[in-house]
Amino acid sequence: FGNAVSAHPDPIEFTLALIKPDAYPAKKDDILQRIRAEGFTIVKESEVHFSADVAKEFYKEHVGKPFYETLVGWMSSAPIYAMVLSKGGAIKAWRALAGPTNSEKARETSPTSIRAMYGKDGSENAVHGSDSLESAKREIGVVFGHDFAASIEPPVAAASSAAS
Ligand code: GDP
Ligand code: MG
Repeated sequence: FGNAVSAHPDPIEFTLALIKPDAYPAKKDDILQRIRAEGFTIVKESEVHFSADVAKEFYKEHVGKPFYETLVGWMSSAPIYAMVLSKGGAIKAWRALAGPTNSEKARETSPTSIRAMYGKDGSENAVHGSDSLESAKREIGVVFGHDFAASIEPPVAAASSAAS
C-alpha cells in the first residue's frame, strides 16, 4: 500500500547540494523550485567560490582520475551555490532528483532530472550531491565548516556518542 504515512519513515538525513558553475546563477531559481517541490528543507545556503585547494580537498576521492584536474579547475573557476538539504532519506532522494552523472545520458533515461534539464554533458552536469552519510558529513564540513557539520549530527548519532 502506498500510504504516505509510513510506519517506518526514512530517517532524517542531511546532504550537500551544489549548483555548479554551468548552472549558477542562471538556473538557481529553477533548481531551488525543484528542491522545494520535493519537500527538502534548505537548512543552510550560500554562494561560495572554491579556491583550488578547497576544490582539491572536496574532490579528493577522484585524485589520479583523468578528469580530476579539469574538474578542480572548473569548480574553482567561478562562484557556485552550496546548500545543506534535509528530509527523510535526503541523500538518496537528492541524488535521484539530480539524476545520472552524465547529463547527456540523463536526458535518455531520466529526462525530468535536474542534470537532464540543466546540465550539459559528462563533466558539466549542473549539480553535485553527496553519495553517503560519510561523504555528506565530510563535504558539509569542507564547505560550511566542521563546527557546522558537527552541529547538525542527527539525534541518533548524538545519543550514541553521548552514551559512549
Ligand atoms: P557524481 O557523484 O554523480 O557527481 O559523480 P562522480 O563522483 O563520479 O564524479 C564527480 C564529478 O566529476 C561529476 O559530477 C562530473 O562533474 C565529473 N566527472 C565524473 N566522471 C567524469 C568523466 O568520466 N569525465 C569527465 N570529464 N568528468 C567526469
Ligand atoms: Mg560523487
